[in-house]
Amino acid sequence: MPSFEELRREVWEANLGIFRAGLVTMHSGNASGIDRKRGLVLIKPSGMDYEKLRPSDLVATDLDGRKVKGRWKPSVDLPHHLHIYKHRNDIGGIVHTHSNFATSLALRDRSVPAYLTAIADEFGEEIPCAPYVVYLGDHIGAAVLKYMGNSPAVLLAHHGAFAFGATPRDALKAAVMLEDVAKTVHLALQLGQPKPLPPEEVRKWYERYHTTYGQKKNA
Ligand SMILES: [Zn+2]
Repeated sequence: MPSFEELRREVWEANLGIFRAGLVTMHSGNASGIDRKRGLVLIKPSGMDYEKLRPSDLVATDLDGRKVKGRWKPSVDLPHHLHIYKHRNDIGGIVHTHSNFATSLALRDRSVPAYLTAIADEFGEEIPCAPYVVYLGDHIGAAVLKYMGNSPAVLLAHHGAFAFGATPRDALKAAVMLEDVAKTVHLALQLGQPKPLPPEEVRKWYERYHTTYGQKKNA
């Protein structure tokens, strides 16, 4: 488990990561991480441009949203992050963006089937889409929670996307992968209606990616 200062660095890098990957502009979107042992969440400050963001600018709050450390106001999306952290112990990092291709698919107000092997790999099922919810309290967090299942990302109709992982770095990866597959699906939809992969193929790709792919020890 990283120290609090290591987590701060990781959350800062996840925020820079979504900016560098072009998933956010100016100051939209945000990334956060949680230190479960201390019961503290670190999140981007509200309305701060990514280019100016330093690790010390991140705001630390408890799980009830009370500021514990930092001189800025936390992101207005903090209640949604907190809601997800409170209900999913396996999640250690969350990213929220309005990335163009994922949001374009979210405008269709329906889940994205596993059309691609890359969707099967990373998501293991269709990418869920939560219906539009009004911005109020933690309603967005509740909708994300309701629709996420085991997917590392959820589309939010008429809004954008949330991505998650065991760490802020994993959440960043899920957000980047989401935008990548969303771009391909968006382009394919211009040519007609693609067909989803058969469920047994989706399972095969998912298992391969999560067991033998890359430099894992059991490979
Ligand atoms: Zn948003």
